[in-house]
Amino acid sequence: MTEKDEQSLVLIKPDGLKKSLTGNILTRLSETKLDIVAAKIVRVSRELAEKHYCHMKEKPFYEELIKYIMGEYHKRKVMAMVYCGPGAIAKVRGICGATNPEEADPVSIRGAYGRITTKGVYENAIHTSVSAEEAEREIKLWFEPEEIILDIYPTKEAKLQSLKKRVWA
Ligand code: UDP
Ligand code: MG
Repeated sequence: MTEKDEQSLVLIKPDGLKKSLTGNILTRLSETKLDIVAAKIVRVSRELAEKHYCHMKEKPFYEELIKYIMGEYHKRKVMAMVYCGPGAIAKVRGICGATNPEEADPVSIRGAYGRITTKGVYENAIHTSVSAEEAEREIKLWFEPEEIILDIYPTKEAKLQSLKKRVWA
């Protein structure tokens, strides 16, 4: 059976950027032979953080998690990417390692670079999608269609009347 083309949202979280791990993480991910089809640096708003982690709302560490992804403890930025190719979700998660950096394989990204804070948050350097459904939800949250070089999900044309947008002066 040939593996299906999939997409995965990958975020290098603020701790990963603060620790200058971007190069190391991208090198590790290149082992997957997947394609990067979108990439950007994002300043994460509270709204984006809350939407991204909507499934964590009831967790005792939720507020800390929101602050973490917004960069309050490191740098106020995240690197967001879309990886695409056969079995992308499992391949990326494999190299990424378990959520808890203490339980993650020491050779995985989270095992090598993650830590647990004294407040109990897993600072695990990277986010990757867990399923095709979650990947679609997350990619549509973080990226506009024209920021992705492939047409991975259906789009439609919309006329936006009173759109206010920052342009070069
Ligand atoms: N997290 C945490 N403590 C936990 C579980 C999760 O600090 O007990 C944080 C961690 O940064 C994790 C994020 O919340 O990456 C999202 O949790 P999820 O269960 O979705 O894990 P992931 O999909 O990131 O492996
Ligand atoms: Mg998750």
